[in-house]
This record gives sequence, C-alpha cells and structure tokens, in this order.
Amino acid sequence: MIQVNEPLLDGNERKYLNECIDTGWISSEGPFVQRFEEQFAASVGRRHAIAVANGSLALDAALVALDLSPGDEVLMPSFTIISCAAAIVRVGAVPVVIDADPITWNMDVTKIEAHITPRSKAMMVVHIYGLPCDMDPILALANKYGLKLVEDAAEMHGQTYRGRPCGSFGDLSIFSFYPNKHITTGEGGMIVTDSDVLAEKCRGLRNLCFIPERRFVHEQLGWNMRMTNLQAALGVAQLERLSVFVERKRAMGALYTKLLQGMPGLQLPQEATEYANNIYWVYGIVLEHDIGFDAREAMRRLGAAGVGTRPFFWPMHEQPVFHRMGLFADTCCPVAENIARRGFYIPSGLALSEDQINTVAQTVREVLK
Ligand SMILES: *Cc1c(COP(=O)(O)O)cnc(C)c1O
Repeated sequence: MIQVNEPLLDGNERKYLNECIDTGWISSEGPFVQRFEEQFAASVGRRHAIAVANGSLALDAALVALDLSPGDEVLMPSFTIISCAAAIVRVGAVPVVIDADPITWNMDVTKIEAHITPRSKAMMVVHIYGLPCDMDPILALANKYGLKLVEDAAEMHGQTYRGRPCGSFGDLSIFSFYPNKHITTGEGGMIVTDSDVLAEKCRGLRNLCFIPERRFVHEQLGWNMRMTNLQAALGVAQLERLSVFVERKRAMGALYTKLLQGMPGLQLPQEATEYANNIYWVYGIVLEHDIGFDAREAMRRLGAAGVGTRPFFWPMHEQPVFHRMGLFADTCCPVAENIARRGFYIPSGLALSEDQINTVAQTVREVLK
C-alpha cells in the first residue's frame, strides 16, 4: 500500500530530540519553544509567534482574541475543515459561508461582497491545498468594511502571494504542524501576528489565562494549549528544511501533472495563478461530469489497487452538526458541493519516492479510465 502521507524526518530532528532528553527539558518550559517561535515569526515576517498544541486550537484562540459579540457575522469559505467554522461558532458568532472557485478551490472572491451585512465583523480566509487565496481583493474588502482578518495558513508553509509570505496577511494568522503539513511537529500549531495586544491575549489564552500578579487567580478562562519542548525541537529541525520541502513538493506536483495530464475526465490542480505557484500541500483530483462515478468509487478502486487516498473536505453548510444548530438552512454553494463529491487526493507526503509517484499515476490511469 502506498500511504497517502508519510513525513520526512531526515534532518536534525533526532539530534534536537536527543538534546531534550539529555537535558531533561521536555515540557513547554524548554528552550526550543521560544527558539521555534522566534525563527517561525522571522520566516513569515511577523513580530510575534505563539506556539500551541495544534492548528485547530490556534483558530480557537484567534477567534476569542478578536473579542466578537454574540451574533456578529464572520465570512469564511464553505469548503474547508470543521475547525474554522467551529472556532467561530464557539465564540457565539455566526459563520457566513462563501462558495469555492472551481479552479483554485479557494473562496471565490467575487462572491464575498454580496454576503457582507451590517453585522459582518470579521473574515476568515483559508488557503486551500497549495494555492493561496486572491488576497488583494480580500484585503480591499476588509479595509472597505472594517473587517478583522483571520488567515488560516495551515496548508501554506513556505507559500507566497505576489511575493509576500502566506501567514503575513491576517490580524491573526495560524499554521498547523500536523504530519501531513509541509513541516510537522507531530501535533502542533502556531499563531502569528504583528499586534502586541493580540499576541499578549493569545499567550494568555494558551496558558489558562494565568495573571502575573497572583498565580491561580483568573480574570478570564483560557485553555492549556501549550506546545511541548519535544514538539518544538522537531519544529526547529523541520523549519531548517522548509525551502527544500517546498521545492520537493513542487517537483512532486509537476511530475504527477506530467504523468496524468491529457487523461480525459480529470481536473488536476492548477500549476500556477498570476499571483502564486502551487506548493501542492496535497495533489487533488476532481472527476469531471463525463466520468460516470464519484470520488467514493474512485477511492475504492484505488484502495483496492494499493493506493491510499483521502476525500476532499465536506462543505460547512452541509454539516449535520450545524444544521442541528439551525445554521445554513437555506445555504447553497454548488461548487463546494460538487468538488466535495467528486474530489479526492492521492499520496502527497514528502517521503514519497519518484518510483511511487510513477506507480500511483499508472494506477490512476488504469483504474479510472
Ligand atoms: C490541518 C488544518 C487545520 C487544523 O490543524 P490541526 O493541527 O490538525 O488541528 C486547520 N485548517 C486547515 C485549512 C488545515 O488544513
């Protein structure tokens, strides 16, 4: 079986983990945490980075830090992971979803303005699968309507938009270090910002909102979302390799496209837009309508032939949990609905060899024709 993801841990990971064990520093108090934060902040050109336990919690902290009021609306894409909408709902705000662009699979920027109301207070942008959102129109809308911006760059390590790093656009931007991301700490996440005030709030929320005056007295509720020194040690080692990883992912994506293009009925990832080159967080495929089966059947056939796959995200407006909360009753996003049913991704991990890519592409050609 060719796994859908295997990480690459062949740099200083072992050396730095050994340092943790040799020194006894394994908790969040260890020195790698601050080192990782400083180096990560520098890598995306931000003043502050706050390391947390995972990317989903990074979103939770970001939404709490924005101090929204109940009923405030937050614009976001429907085609994304549940963590994005969950963070909005958990602070009592209302997610308002925008359909996807059929080519990049990102939020369709031409559809945002029609959804802005007097209650709109913030926008969450999510860069999907390897290409960044078209940020200039998004920033113009945020500016025009005074919307706060949360940027989910979980899949966008090392990517840029018109030369500016992804993760540099939000009032708060977040990353994930889950093992299928370009760099991993096993589990882990990062919040980045230029605002001293927002950074201070996020640091507090990460650490139970302890106050300096008297430990164990609390003005506010936080969480324990601290990152351990072990995770940060992996992060420092992985960050050293980021540009190599991005180059490798780009080469993997280009090879897949070379081997699969021309096959009828398959929509492959866009290699570039006018503002970015794809970094292929995952290599997604959407079955066009002349193919007489859906992604579920394609994934079944590939699995039987030894190729691991994952389905595309399922749209937020089609989530049973949100329907039960009375959300999205009349919402319809035809593009997101279509790619959710007809999209899946093939093995895309950094440890994938050229031979394996050839095997996967050949299997795709055989079982999907
Ligand atoms: C992976 C991912 C997350 C969540 O990160 P975790 O670290 O797995 O909690 C959030 N948003 C997007 C777009 C992701 O791909």
